[in-house]
Amino acid sequence: LIDIQGVGKDFPYGSQILRVLQGIDLQVRPGEALSIMGPSGSGKSTLMNIIGCMDRPSRGRYRLADQDVDELAERDLCKVRNRTIGFVFQSFHLLPRLTAWRNVEIPMLYGGVSTEDRRERSKDLLERVGLGHRLHHRPNELSGGERQRVGIARALALEPALILADEPTGNLDQRTGKDILRLFSTLHREGKTIIVVTHDPDVARWADRIITIKDGRLV
Ligand code: ATP
Ligand code: MG
Repeated sequence: LIDIQGVGKDFPYGSQILRVLQGIDLQVRPGEALSIMGPSGSGKSTLMNIIGCMDRPSRGRYRLADQDVDELAERDLCKVRNRTIGFVFQSFHLLPRLTAWRNVEIPMLYGGVSTEDRRERSKDLLERVGLGHRLHHRPNELSGGERQRVGIARALALEPALILADEPTGNLDQRTGKDILRLFSTLHREGKTIIVVTHDPDVARWADRIITIKDGRLV
């Protein structure tokens, strides 16, 4: 599903250039569960942003679902991203004024889904993550684990093949974190490819494979 070869990423910083990623080679098979570990500032989120087509590499080649990401125009890149990838964030990124139900509908607003189907599907997804009884709650009326489950339901809205989660349990207590991993395990069994960035070795062990980044390189 993912084929990254010799990828590097630089950020201009004042008069300097920061080399944040260097010579990254990474292949991920469809249906694989992968953890990415590494110290703070080592480049994990930068790599996730590249994998998620939120940012482009400075060097090297990236193929996602048999498409050369480097060669795609911005508009086509957006399409590939929406069709292929669901994002789960550490701080959930929910819209505070909208209910759980409406939050999960958001990705479908751009997917040409009718209002009725959107409502129905969003409700189904929330039931799947065990929040059928919290449809009308706003984010500040939900617990951390519940918010994260809304985030996961929203990530699943457009049926992505690939789920990218950057520190998905970082703001949760251990037990709630385990619930989230159980949910990921179910999705994994259903054939989704899942990549999780984490500082927590117990979370990392959940995956089939663990890779570690140090100073912008895979070690
Ligand atoms: P953490 O575990 O703390 O989240 P990380 O491994 O995810 O760390 P990144 O966010 O990938 O780290 O950042 C890697 C390095 O790149 C950091 O030193 C950061 O300061 C730098 N960096 C990230 N984004 C930019 C940017 N847009 N401009 C300049 N430097 C950046
Ligand atoms: Mg990070």
